[in-house]
Amino acid sequence: MSFSSLGLSKQLLKNVADQGYQKPYPIQEQAIPAILKGRDIMGLARTGSGKTASFVLPILQRLQTQPPATGRSVRTLVLVPTRELAVQVAEVFQTLGRDLPRRVKTVAVFGGVSINPQMMALGGTDVVVATPGRLLDLISQNAVGLSAVSTLVLDEADKMLDLGFADEMTDLFRMLPRKRQTLLFSATLGGDVQTLREHLLRDPLWVEV
Ligand code: AMP
Repeated sequence: MSFSSLGLSKQLLKNVADQGYQKPYPIQEQAIPAILKGRDIMGLARTGSGKTASFVLPILQRLQTQPPATGRSVRTLVLVPTRELAVQVAEVFQTLGRDLPRRVKTVAVFGGVSINPQMMALGGTDVVVATPGRLLDLISQNAVGLSAVSTLVLDEADKMLDLGFADEMTDLFRMLPRKRQTLLFSATLGGDVQTLREHLLRDPLWVEV
């Protein structure tokens, strides 16, 4: 199996090659074609599996056919447990999204730092990678809106729950359109992750690596 058989565009294949990726990892082989078709995913995968590129690449490709973001409406929301992961995931969107015909703007937002620069950075953002609490603050300040989100990613969902973000997550889910694609990634499948899965996913493809 090669990256070129997964349905990705020429520029994305070039960006993958520029990163030195020679062959897709198993999670990428399974998840990329399904996400491109619009399917929900339940991914049981830990760090090191290649899970980030497995959702970043198809999301970048699907954004190519959507109009550029304007104002405060975002199209893709990636929820993550920590500041470090927010920065890392946003960087992967930026590197794998280089030189695309339809430019994709990604911004990372997280707590523990001043909110103003994040508010200023947010206009016309396609992809927001966020920790739940800071995202709620930014929404209450009208810096970002979730009513046009077409893809929701939960990355390291078990860790987000372990860190006590369940209530914030529920508040955020209520603001999302019902009709959307949802990608749920977790290293473990405890009871709380099962509850998330039941509430959020529709006929997901299970990917276990
Ligand atoms: P992740 O599990 O998403 O944190 O990725 C783990 C590491 O694997 C990162 O450093 C990626 O850059 C790298 N990586 C992801 N996919 C591939 C691939 N197909 N070939 C080689 N390295 C990869």
